[in-house]
Amino acid sequence: MAPPGRAPDTPGWQVRVVPNLYPAFEHQEVIVHTPRHVRTLAELDDEELGMIAVAWHERLGAAREAGFDYPFLLFNEGREAGASLPHTHSQLVWLREAAPEVQNELPRLAAGTCALCDVLTDGALEIAVDGELSLRAAPAGRAPYEVLIAPRVHEAKPDLEGLGSALRLLRLTVSRLRALEGPTPLNAWLHLGVHWHFEVVPRLPVLAGLELGGGIFVNWLAPEEAAVRLRD
Ligand SMILES: [Zn+2]
Ligand SMILES: [Zn+2]
Repeated sequence: MAPPGRAPDTPGWQVRVVPNLYPAFEHQEVIVHTPRHVRTLAELDDEELGMIAVAWHERLGAAREAGFDYPFLLFNEGREAGASLPHTHSQLVWLREAAPEVQNELPRLAAGTCALCDVLTDGALEIAVDGELSLRAAPAGRAPYEVLIAPRVHEAKPDLEGLGSALRLLRLTVSRLRALEGPTPLNAWLHLGVHWHFEVVPRLPVLAGLELGGGIFVNWLAPEEAAVRLRD
């Protein structure tokens, strides 16, 4: 992506969007977060995060304009979490229909009876705020330190400012996790459509038979305790 007045694909890029070399979908993009060879979001500065927010905002808009109403933005960090490159990046998969997980949660997030709005009123789970966004421990996390990043207002999709706040809270999560547990592989993704939010799942325990076969997730860390640890 070129800054105003510059052609795309010329030297001096700051955030670069390229098609996935091995796409599993009709249209899949890789967003390279910085030209610096940096492995983790924790090492990016505010200016770099601002550029990523612009790229995310622009590409989400491009997907919708092309008729893909449910673009799926995801971020994997660490090889154990499926990151295919050691250089920090995110991916955007253009989907025409909501992914199954999004479909599943739609009824729970309906306006008026939104479970996420409820979570946002529980002060014991709050870790940090940035602008209109709140970072909180997930009330029924699948993994220790699972967190949610969401706007306090019930809105379907983020604006540029919201994405900037979300990126700073994502970086904060990665940094605090590194301080607590060392470099931690994790997956994060954006859910759109009702009350938008990022879910962040650190990959501390290995998913095994009980989790994959039974859908039973044993989490050894209570969300209130996770919030306390991630706050400091
Ligand atoms: Zn809501
Ligand atoms: Zn969700």
